Amino acid sequence: MEIWEMSTKEILSLLKSREITAQEVLDSYLCRITEVEPLVRAYLEVLEPEARAEAAKVDAMLIRGEDPGILSGLPCALKDNLALKGARCTCASKILENWVAPYDATCVARLKKQGAVFLGKTNMDEFAMGSSTENSAFGPTKNPWDLERVPGGSSGGSAAAVAAGMAPLALGSDTGGSIRQPASFTGTYGLKPTYGLVSRYGLVAFASSLDQIGPFGQSVWDCALLLEAIAGYDPLDSTSSRKEPFPYTKHLESSLRGLRAGVPGEFLGFGIDPDVREGFEKILEILSDMGVIVEETSLPTLPYALDTYYVIAPSEASSNLARFDGVRYGFRASAPNLESMYQKTRGEGFGREVRRRIMLGTFALSAGYYDAYYLRAARIRTLIRRDFENAFEKFDVLLSPTTPTAAFKLGEKIEDPISMYLADVLTVPVNLAGLPALSMPAGFVITGEKGKELPWGLQIIGKPFAETTVLQVGNALEQEIGKEINDKIRDMRRDLTRTRECEPVD
Ligand code: GLN
Repeated sequence: MEIWEMSTKEILSLLKSREITAQEVLDSYLCRITEVEPLVRAYLEVLEPEARAEAAKVDAMLIRGEDPGILSGLPCALKDNLALKGARCTCASKILENWVAPYDATCVARLKKQGAVFLGKTNMDEFAMGSSTENSAFGPTKNPWDLERVPGGSSGGSAAAVAAGMAPLALGSDTGGSIRQPASFTGTYGLKPTYGLVSRYGLVAFASSLDQIGPFGQSVWDCALLLEAIAGYDPLDSTSSRKEPFPYTKHLESSLRGLRAGVPGEFLGFGIDPDVREGFEKILEILSDMGVIVEETSLPTLPYALDTYYVIAPSEASSNLARFDGVRYGFRASAPNLESMYQKTRGEGFGREVRRRIMLGTFALSAGYYDAYYLRAARIRTLIRRDFENAFEKFDVLLSPTTPTAAFKLGEKIEDPISMYLADVLTVPVNLAGLPALSMPAGFVITGEKGKELPWGLQIIGKPFAETTVLQVGNALEQEIGKEINDKIRDMRRDLTRTRECEPVD
């Protein structure tokens, strides 16, 4: 078995017992990247020399008997909206094409301190706006389960890298579903932490009242490990919580007997694929057999969540993205005067979806319309949050599929923004309420002409700062159903290798 085929936990224990070196681990992943990256295109940049230096540093520490931290040489991929000092941070936008981050994001600095080795920066929808990674200015990422399909978005590169075996761990960001939806589409595990648990210092802001950074991994344990490394108060982010960081990996095992899980009926009314629905019902039965008390519940304002999100997120984006004017960062168009320089820079530098959001948001915030749109949306957001609060008086977790369908085809929704936005209908309510939620692979549906199997994800939503409960439920369920899923992942990865051998691409 190659190192990249092992579980993260196995790799870590071999690293700690010094049976393998961080450099060998890195080599294995770099080799896998060479093998399948031309098919998947998960990375915008692979940082080979830097990663080699970091791995050598970890090995030197291990040889000296020093503790390199809880990640101890594990490779990790970073979404390209996270600042890594000295590396380009493009947000998959032309406007930041050559912008080099002058400092580390707090989560990056924390991973470094724990001995992570950064493999590279991953592809995404431009400025994290999208659900398919097709909005990248540098070309789409493909879904390793079916190269004609999208990996989801906006953190599609991070999700696809983990799914294809090109990284054991990755970080993404989630404003309306951008970790959970691609996790669901690629058969990976992705966690959106509670608003405020992880510092956003060094994350290029999209919608500041919604953005959170979170982990991708190959198991619940992986997500717990990364979260442990990055969570906790940061004086550089005034919205970060002062709660003490928690050793999530040490509290994963727990019996689910007596745990109360609610299934909001509204979540199942959004055009869920019948096969996903059937799989979801099966999971509910498995959970009941494990002793979970599963009951239907209602969150009456849920049907307004998507509309609310698409007022709030673009409004905040229009304000956050005002800084990209051709003066301070990246791309600048040439023009005869300042005003037209601004216009041309922004017109040429931003892609179509980003321009659409900026215009929508600027309109929603403009004098005379603010009350009708932004203020109203803010009020509905409060109602949605209250609905969740009420539900959590009775339940420990809420459950739904992460997305209404499995991965869709490249090009299928790109010309129809509304149908693209609907891919997030089950994830945005969680961001509006600031809650933690995990997406974990929970089954497969058979799609299309070729009869390919595609994964779908289960979403486990928790109370604020109840990451532990969410992870415990996920972990217990993974013990029950994870083996079958891992077998399919192994087959998918082998198919990918075979495809590459048969169809060499540039
Ligand atoms: N797909 C959603 C959007 O386009 C969410 C994106 C995200 O979470 N960054 O806004």
